[in-house]
Amino acid sequence: MRILIAEDDQVLADGLTRSLRASHYAVDQVADGLSADHALHAGSFDLLILDLGLPRLSGFEVLKRVRSRGDALPVLILTAADNLEDKVRGLDLGADDYMAKPFELAELEARVRALTRRGMGATSSVIRHGPLSVDLSGRVVMIDQRVVDLSARELALLEVLLQRAGRLVSKDQLVDHLCVWGEEVSTNAIEVYIHRLRKKIEVGPVRIATVRGLGYCLQRIAGNPAAADPTSEPAGGTASPVQAV
Ligand code: CA
Repeated sequence: MRILIAEDDQVLADGLTRSLRASHYAVDQVADGLSADHALHAGSFDLLILDLGLPRLSGFEVLKRVRSRGDALPVLILTAADNLEDKVRGLDLGADDYMAKPFELAELEARVRALTRRGMGATSSVIRHGPLSVDLSGRVVMIDQRVVDLSARELALLEVLLQRAGRLVSKDQLVDHLCVWGEEVSTNAIEVYIHRLRKKIEVGPVRIATVRGLGYCLQRIAGNPAAADPTSEPAGGTASPVQAV
């Protein structure tokens, strides 16, 4: 999960970045609205934390531009505590939630979790894909009630694939969603992480299919390959078709 923080209060921005990185989010920060707009044009973010009072381009304008591009990116705005008008205007412009400054980090993190899981189409903090379940708040992965031990990077990779389950995800997209600016992760490294993740999660009817030259797709084998009934599915089961996006 990759988050962009647009905030000109450097102390606040650094504190947020530290705290969200400790929760395993990939976090980038910008200190003005124009840089935020450019970053959002270029990057693949899963959430924007947006201060409204930004130099060069206001938070309202940044938000307006995001929505005018038809971008459904979840946006959490940061407002001054007593400014009801700003909150209403921000929500009307398409923000998903707001926090009034000053705020408790624990509350902000809970809202970030809520917004990112909504972006994944999940209604609770547990996302399921066949026998696989991922608890986003506790960061616990289970297969058939058995806990699977994943590294932070493997879990981040799984989250990106889960968010787009059944659809093709390119290696470049994986790099974009996993890495912050200046962090060098090659597509070869992605192959290594995928290899490790496969060894850990491909024990049930869940597969990470390789679409040669294009990327990967998290799939669920239809039916149960181990089932005794040979008429239910062809041997090995049938993977759902890959839908490119
Ligand atoms: Ca500000």
